[in-house]
Amino acid sequence: MDNNNQQAQNRSPINLEEAQLNTLINSITDGVIATDKNGNIIMYNGAALNVLDQNTELKGVPIGTCLRLLDKANQPIDLTRLVVETKTQTISRDYKLGYADGSIINIYLSIAPVKPKFGSNEKDGFVILVRDITREKSLEEERDEFISVVSHELRTPVTIAEGNLSNIILALERSGDIHSVNNAVHQAHDQILFLASLINDLSTLSRAENGTIQNLNYVSINVAQLIHTIAQNYVQEVQKKGLSMQTEVDPSLEVIHNSSLYVREILQNFITNAIKYTEHGVVTVGARPAQGGVEFRVSDTGIGISEHDQKEVFDKFFRSEDYRTKKSSGTGLGLYVTQKLAHLIGAEISLESTLNKGSTFKIFIPDMSNAKQESIEPADNTK
Ligand code: ADP
Repeated sequence: MDNNNQQAQNRSPINLEEAQLNTLINSITDGVIATDKNGNIIMYNGAALNVLDQNTELKGVPIGTCLRLLDKANQPIDLTRLVVETKTQTISRDYKLGYADGSIINIYLSIAPVKPKFGSNEKDGFVILVRDITREKSLEEERDEFISVVSHELRTPVTIAEGNLSNIILALERSGDIHSVNNAVHQAHDQILFLASLINDLSTLSRAENGTIQNLNYVSINVAQLIHTIAQNYVQEVQKKGLSMQTEVDPSLEVIHNSSLYVREILQNFITNAIKYTEHGVVTVGARPAQGGVEFRVSDTGIGISEHDQKEVFDKFFRSEDYRTKKSSGTGLGLYVTQKLAHLIGAEISLESTLNKGSTFKIFIPDMSNAKQESIEPADNTK
């Protein structure tokens, strides 16, 4: 074929159409694969190569040999068969793809038969669309799990409080038995207090999860004053439990710039836990200078946290199985929320604990005095 002829051919309407089609399917971000009626690949786009993790020629290859399709239970499925048996367009978000290195991703899979003419039962081939939805799936799973745990956590106290109120009504109707009424009112009250603290934790959590720079108001915080004010707020509670409270502030400490609201909230969570999980001894709140900021610490001489539990205390809804933990009520959200708040203000938490001896929660709070408020991104709060 001479040059002129070749150019004429390149400009022919059929070639133009094919070029346009190629550009179109290559601009699609989902993997697009077209097969013949036997499931052998005849065309695919660049995104398909990414999803398939392949860079070899795929034309003529049966689709099932280059895509290792798995069902929900990770059992292999013959994709070529699934494709050729498809009669009308089918879409699923429940399949997965397995790769040679053992990794697995969740995919959106659409299989559509291509018919020679509308309404025909015959098939010329199939168009398969594949999209990686692993991240969406894991967010969905996390949300579902969260909702199920929250509803479970809410149901228990509501049921108990409802039972107590029924008992009160009965006791009043019968004889006005003031002792039973008193007991039931107290139990119902405890459950309502627990519900209030759960709702409080949930709302702090949602604030922390949606936290943006607008919520962060950096102010100068007088460290010694902050520690003494907070400690003062717990004096009664500490005395009621027969514990003592100490403060240890390095005299060289002056002011630090950060979010007073969040620093307070974090320290209060640590102190509440220190009191809650300590039966004898001392709760100490301290602070000392650290490079670029201040290190606060809350120590207790309480029940301590086992090495195994130390890895999980910051997880959502985690509560230790230790019977002494179960003696006091808790939502298991406090430290999870604390961790979120810490990320938001660029703080870092560390924990040292010995079972039956006590725990020390330390938090490094960076001094933001040199940072321009508008230009500070909150730390990654997706963890
Ligand atoms: P909550 O106290 O509501 O159960 P947290 O998220 O604040 O939830 O704490 C999670 C778990 O970590 C607690 O249930 C407890 O098992 C453990 N924990 C936290 N702080 C202490 C502490 N100071 N001493 C011993 N255990 C602690």
